[in-house]
Amino acid sequence: MPSAIEQLVKILKLERQQGANNRAVVGGLRAYSATWSMQAYEQARRPEQRRLVDELTSLMRGYDDIGERERRLQIVNYMLDRVTGRVQPPTEREVFEAGDAAKQPPPTAQSTPKPVAPTETPAHESRPPKSEMPADPREQAAREQPAQPRPPRQDRRDRAEQTHDQGRREERRNKQDRPRGEQQRREGGPNRPDRGQHGKQQHDRHDQQRPRGGDEGDLSFDVSDPIEVLHTGQLDIPTEIRLARPPRSPRPNVDPEAATDIMRGLRASVETVRGIGPKMVESLANLNVHTIEDMLALLPRRYDDYTRLTSISRLVPTQNTTVIATVRRSELKAIKSKRKDLWVEFYDGTGTLHVTFFGQHYLSRTFQPSTQFVLHGRVTAFRGQPQMTNPEWEQIDPENLRQIGIVPIYPLTEGISGRTMRRLMRDTVTYWAERLPDYMPVTVLERTDLADLGWAIKNLHFPEGHDHLAHARNRYVFDELLLMQLSILATRREWQSTPAEPLPVDDGFMDEFIASVFPYSLTTAQQRAIADIRHDAAKPIPMNRLLQGDVGSGKTAVAISAMILAFANGKQAALMAPTGILAEQHYRSISRQLEATPGDRKPHVALLTSALSAADKRAVIAGLADGSIDIVIGTHAVIEEGVTFQNLGLAVIDEQHRFGVQQRGRLRGKGLNPHVLVMTATPIPRTLALTLFADLDLTVLDEMPPGRTPIDTYIIPDVKRERMYRFVEEQLEQGRQAFIVHPLVEASETIEAASAVEEYERLSQVFYRYRVGLLHGKMRPAEKDDIMGAFSHGEIDVLVTTSVAEVGVDVPNANVIIIEGANRFGLAQLHQFRGRVGRGQHKSTCFLVPDADTPESEARLKALTETTDGFKLAEIDWQQRGAGDLIGTRQSGRSKLQLLHAMVPHLVDMAQREARTLFEEDPYLTLPEHRLLAERVAMLYDPEIDVS
Ligand code: ADP
Ligand code: MG
Repeated sequence: MPSAIEQLVKILKLERQQGANNRAVVGGLRAYSATWSMQAYEQARRPEQRRLVDELTSLMRGYDDIGERERRLQIVNYMLDRVTGRVQPPTEREVFEAGDAAKQPPPTAQSTPKPVAPTETPAHESRPPKSEMPADPREQAAREQPAQPRPPRQDRRDRAEQTHDQGRREERRNKQDRPRGEQQRREGGPNRPDRGQHGKQQHDRHDQQRPRGGDEGDLSFDVSDPIEVLHTGQLDIPTEIRLARPPRSPRPNVDPEAATDIMRGLRASVETVRGIGPKMVESLANLNVHTIEDMLALLPRRYDDYTRLTSISRLVPTQNTTVIATVRRSELKAIKSKRKDLWVEFYDGTGTLHVTFFGQHYLSRTFQPSTQFVLHGRVTAFRGQPQMTNPEWEQIDPENLRQIGIVPIYPLTEGISGRTMRRLMRDTVTYWAERLPDYMPVTVLERTDLADLGWAIKNLHFPEGHDHLAHARNRYVFDELLLMQLSILATRREWQSTPAEPLPVDDGFMDEFIASVFPYSLTTAQQRAIADIRHDAAKPIPMNRLLQGDVGSGKTAVAISAMILAFANGKQAALMAPTGILAEQHYRSISRQLEATPGDRKPHVALLTSALSAADKRAVIAGLADGSIDIVIGTHAVIEEGVTFQNLGLAVIDEQHRFGVQQRGRLRGKGLNPHVLVMTATPIPRTLALTLFADLDLTVLDEMPPGRTPIDTYIIPDVKRERMYRFVEEQLEQGRQAFIVHPLVEASETIEAASAVEEYERLSQVFYRYRVGLLHGKMRPAEKDDIMGAFSHGEIDVLVTTSVAEVGVDVPNANVIIIEGANRFGLAQLHQFRGRVGRGQHKSTCFLVPDADTPESEARLKALTETTDGFKLAEIDWQQRGAGDLIGTRQSGRSKLQLLHAMVPHLVDMAQREARTLFEEDPYLTLPEHRLLAERVAMLYDPEIDVS
């Protein structure tokens, strides 16, 4: 039964929204009742479910005949209340009577009182006072049923109950002071109507219209309409369960040893969970879930709130939406030669939705007529008809409907259905949420006002309400950040305990070097960065500094100045670039600049990449080992493979997010602990950077060298596409080059590559007079290098690419970039894309082409047309979308942070403060109240600790 019920709920809500004009379903509720009841009957299993179907059907049947809008609204509300269990079922007799109610007045109420939860609900309070009610149901009743005499005792009761009312109001006021959640628990559920055996004490004036609510023996009530015996006034289902602050329970006193043992139990295999056999273990392994810990960390991809699902008639194109709908029919459609697509028509009583599953003909057996599904995907419209393509789908799980609420949607894999996963999760979560000791010191939770661990785990997986979910997420994000920082800080302390060679230089040397090597004067920001580096490197503690600077801010000059510190001290330096091509580019420009080094001895600079011939490579490796090479420029392999340095004093890593602990470990294994400078063009707001890279000190180049013309940036609606292409052609005609970024959004790389190829073919036709090239992530590195080389030598005019991360090369002649699907990306990321142009003397242009034109995306993109400050854009992103766009998939070091979108500024700030406080107070976390925390950090971050 539940799925038909769910459909009805959607219709009823729509009906209510539309002002009860009987338009929610085509043909009206009466017409719909026939089909509905058939379907509902099929699904009903228990007798009380069948009774509910009967009751609802008869109400629907009578609905069309009711003239008064107010009364229709009451019926709708009542039906919703019944469906959601807010109103208890009437007795069988009542059902029978109500069934014909719309046609004939029901007999006077004389039913027995029903055992119903007793209390008034807070929702009632929002009801306008009686006098303001647009239509008093009682008066309506009187109007519509003039023949019905009024019960003589009513007036007397009215009077008598005024005093009662006052008492109740008092009571309500008291209740209001309590948090809603608590109140609901006390009352056995949200929004229980005030019907039932306590009727006698609780009538307000409304109750006069509800003789069934009690008053045994008070048979004189004359109810002319079934609705008047019904509950009215509830407006939303279910009323949102609000929770301003997370509840905190007193910490149970658990023996620390025992607590540690329990926590270590998280390391147990998932096989220990009841219901998980060897097959399931394999399936879960595909999701990277091996232990209980992994299982609890497998967070829902999204949550479907069944009470807030959209009905088909209200779908909005371009939005990602979830609907529940029934299959009406399906059809296989053969496209071209071999691909067969499945086309399915769904309906939900408010409209039809056409869904195409490309190439998934085998699903035709799944999408059988009359079965119900939850569909999630992007809505498009074709001739006004809503459509979805390859949506996510799941057959309705009656369980979800029974407990209407927020349903977690987990990542799935072969062999595990959504339903199974939820069941396993529920068991695991329930068990562990109760037992897992909270490792976070109470003082920290007190300062931060965050939720208890068990509560957070429970609500992260099975949220009781939207607020609950938010609090649970906050705790989760905070923990991730805090634990990660503690581990990073500990590691930092560790490697700082091995000394580094100090690299002091005097001001005279440095000034002369800068004056001779750079043909321009350094910006103040560059000078500051160099001063920071000199300061660090002069100490016997290894430097670990992050240099953040927008594209074009002049990081290379800073890197050169850093490397010269090593050279000046008779030590070697290395610079590592992410790609061979970029290394080559750096090698050419740096070795040229260093020829101007003052003094007799010029640094000997060498290039080391995989592209070198074996003999050349051998020569470089020999030179590094014997110290005849002073500066080596190459890829990361420089420090990783069988390369030994005579004396590596300083390493620069360009465009790498993090110089991993592992790399440092490897260097140390070679007896080296160089100063390290990491450079990145990804603008990350300061607090976030300090948190994610807690072991790095931060310098920001917040100033651009003078004389840069800003890149003109435009948002291009689809209709202006042709004009944009013509503009690009004009530039190509003048000998310029263009990037067209077709960023990938599909989950699978293979699909991505395919769509990039398709786009490439299309663009080859658009720009048929020019040479068009394609670069995507699925290509082999050598292939990529070839394409990039060709583009940078001007042998390709238009480069179609899936991500600019692939383009590790500077092409000053390229002055146009088109970014497709721009609305899907973070501003900081778009800013990075845009930074591919504007590197030469030509005026550059950036076109942002959104594939959805919502006001929000437009407003967001507008920021790009207005500012060129990457950090400002990153801040906006962070405020609006959390840290996801800023960190992306390039995660830092060992941690796999989840919930990046929930990583908002105040949480990061809090986690950073708390981590530093803890670290200062108790750097080794040895205090008794920190022991469990230390254990947790070790469990998560130290693979060498065997906690099994
Ligand atoms: P990025 O930070 O993106 O690595 P680069 O170091 O490649 O930037 O510098 C970009 C361009 O700006 C280079 O051509 C470089 O020569 C030039 N440049 C760097 N610093 C200055 C400066 N202080 N004044 C003028 N031009 C500069
Ligand atoms: Mg650079």
